[in-house]
Amino acid sequence: MTEWSRPVGAVESPSSEEEEALWHSFHITHVLDCLADPSKNRVIAEFSDDISPVFPYLNAVMPNLMYNPGANTVTLKRGVRILTFYPRVAVMAKVDGAEDARAQLAWFRELVNETWRRRREIEPRYERRRLLGPLDVYLLLPRLNCGGCGEKTCMAFAFALLLGERQAGECPRLMDEPYREGGQRLLELLGEP
Ligand code: SF4
Repeated sequence: MTEWSRPVGAVESPSSEEEEALWHSFHITHVLDCLADPSKNRVIAEFSDDISPVFPYLNAVMPNLMYNPGANTVTLKRGVRILTFYPRVAVMAKVDGAEDARAQLAWFRELVNETWRRRREIEPRYERRRLLGPLDVYLLLPRLNCGGCGEKTCMAFAFALLLGERQAGECPRLMDEPYREGGQRLLELLGEP
């Protein structure tokens, strides 16, 4: 079976709404085995529109998003999924089949169109940004390895945060002094209230 042997021709269209919508529909073209995790899929989709004008606005408002202005891509993690968006194509790793991919695309399309509608209120950011890594998160945690969050170590908690399995607010020491400043920064970076 070749990597391209399972094309899926699902077409998605939004209801009616949005005259101002930047992105109208997507089309899943391939559902492949995920190289990193055979129990998951890598899914490729194509878009009806060039969505790249919204990327600098997403870069300004979205926590933990990777923006690469040279390649003109944004990448996000949702749980274990890694979603990379090009101007007219998405490549999504570690998703659970076409249905899950469709849900991710629908979520992102809504985010794109909502951000695009609000663009006059947003100062776009054009500088490159990378995704948070475990060490970035760990360094903002109290690093007490106290187990109060239910994880054995702060590093284990950092990994769980990046996988979307835990919330930073579940560390009971995060807002204690002198850890509060790092804790606030972490909440901002992860987009937690
Ligand atoms: S409760 Fe906070 S300080 Fe303690 S192990 Fe968990 S993350 Fe680290």
